[in-house]
Amino acid sequence: MEKSINNRYYLDYNATSPLADKVKTFLGKGDFLFGNPSSIHQTGKASRKKINETIDFLYKTFSLSPDEYSLYFHSGATEGINTYFKGIALKHFKEKIPSTFIFSNLDHSAVMSLEEDLISLGHEVVYFSTDKNSEFDLSELIKLIQRKEVDGKKVFLNFTVINNETGVVWPLTLAEAIKDSTDCQVHVDAVQLVGKIENWKNLSSKLDVYNFSAHKFGALKGIGFTFIKKSSEFKSLLTGGNQQDGYRSGTENALGVYSVKLALEEMLEFEPKNLRELKNDLQKNLESEFGDKLVFVNKNSKATNVNTLFLIVKDSKADQISMLFDLAQIDISTGSACSSGIFKENRILKNLGYDSLLSLSGLRISLGPSNLLIQKEELFDRVVRVIKKLSH
Ligand code: PLP
Repeated sequence: MEKSINNRYYLDYNATSPLADKVKTFLGKGDFLFGNPSSIHQTGKASRKKINETIDFLYKTFSLSPDEYSLYFHSGATEGINTYFKGIALKHFKEKIPSTFIFSNLDHSAVMSLEEDLISLGHEVVYFSTDKNSEFDLSELIKLIQRKEVDGKKVFLNFTVINNETGVVWPLTLAEAIKDSTDCQVHVDAVQLVGKIENWKNLSSKLDVYNFSAHKFGALKGIGFTFIKKSSEFKSLLTGGNQQDGYRSGTENALGVYSVKLALEEMLEFEPKNLRELKNDLQKNLESEFGDKLVFVNKNSKATNVNTLFLIVKDSKADQISMLFDLAQIDISTGSACSSGIFKENRILKNLGYDSLLSLSGLRISLGPSNLLIQKEELFDRVVRVIKKLSH
């Protein structure tokens, strides 16, 4: 692992992660597992073996039972999320079962953009409210689900355990409480989970579905996986060769799958609490340097992950923030979509209740293992210098 690449500091781990060393070493050997895992010759069997090893490893790492959960691979969480929610919506459309999908407006766009299709299949999409700290009222949410169930609806909830923008954690115990009081199916968006809280391996076997994207923790791009309870409703969106027991047809990406195992092995050796220390020190440093010029968005939230600082740099704009950090050789995110050179407001800041001006001034710094190799003072200095320029 290098502390920087071409002297750039990579502080955008919530967007994606550099390849894990173990993955790079494996690729360096030149064995790209090209055999089709469904072929019965030795080359195909070699790919199948690596897939099976990875499957065993995933069940073991997350302590889920293969008797209770199916596990299948796909291209990443966008596919996993679309498949789960649209698959159910389609099935229930055919079976004439009115369903309610409950999301939060802080969810990733892979979730929120489902709305139109779910509604056009005759279902309803409801958003539960969150406050300025990205938190929600558990009893209100339970009541909302219960009301829908009394109305005869089947209810499906998306529960984002760690928000990619704010880093706020919704502990799985909250989702468990929802399961205890309702018949709702809970889908956990677990994309930001691995390595980003101390107890990331502890999944709850009360919950129905977990979706992961493995490029977020050092595996190749284009590979993700889903654990889904065997008792859960499911209908695959893809039909074809019936690979992976029909959960996801299409020739499996053996190299991508095996990279999941290698990357996870590396994450198991990593101590997330070291990142929390770095994050807290960086925050303290920026607070003492800039005072109320900066707003730390999740400062009062009950639980946050180890690596994300989400802040507003008052009186600056996303385009300046992006440009100056880029020039200073630091990769960060502003969370402001840019189309034709015009930066839009950060959707999450807007939905958290910040006004239009402040919503244009978002800055997300998301740390990862390679940042622990940088001299702290050097890292802080580089960030401070950019923010000083922004504050002029
Ligand atoms: N959900 C969350 C919380 C995410 O952070 C992301 C990606 O940033 C996704 C879903 C979608 O993942 P992918 O882009 O890997 O398909």
